[in-house]
Amino acid sequence: MYILDKNFKNLFKDKFQILIDEAKKSTCLRSKCGSIIINNQEIIWYWYNSPPLDLESQRRCENPKIIYNNKVTDKTCCIHAEERAIIDALKNNSDKIKDSRLYFIRLDENNNPKYSQEPYCTICSKLALDVWIKEFVLYKKDWFYVYKTQEYNDLSFSYND
Ligand SMILES: [Zn+2]
Ligand SMILES: [Zn+2]
Repeated sequence: MYILDKNFKNLFKDKFQILIDEAKKSTCLRSKCGSIIINNQEIIWYWYNSPPLDLESQRRCENPKIIYNNKVTDKTCCIHAEERAIIDALKNNSDKIKDSRLYFIRLDENNNPKYSQEPYCTICSKLALDVWIKEFVLYKKDWFYVYKTQEYNDLSFSYND
């Protein structure tokens, strides 16, 4: 893991705004997240979290009290922003997902970026690794933290809060 150079801020400014604007579109009732995939300054895809196909009938977040069986592996409600950005890039035959960098952000209730904690979503960490994304980037207190995808997957699986 390493922290991006602070000068990166200016370079990334427009893309960071896209990332935030995307997160604002989230229709998930539990969290507003955005994700953008970039390869060599080129934006490959971006998305927010929402029910599969944005279908209201597939929404699972209105009732957080529903208890799912242990065999239900993903008990979260929506397609994660990272999942959607990856899946849409692949659906659209983007061959530039390989060696790309995926940035993730979560917003608070006032639509301000929230500092990420340690990674824990093994759905997204496995997926990112499996499609050859090179690095996973979180917005943390000091700045952007860059993780090699394999490291990110290892950290997610060893998460312990
Ligand atoms: Zn949801
Ligand atoms: Zn995830």
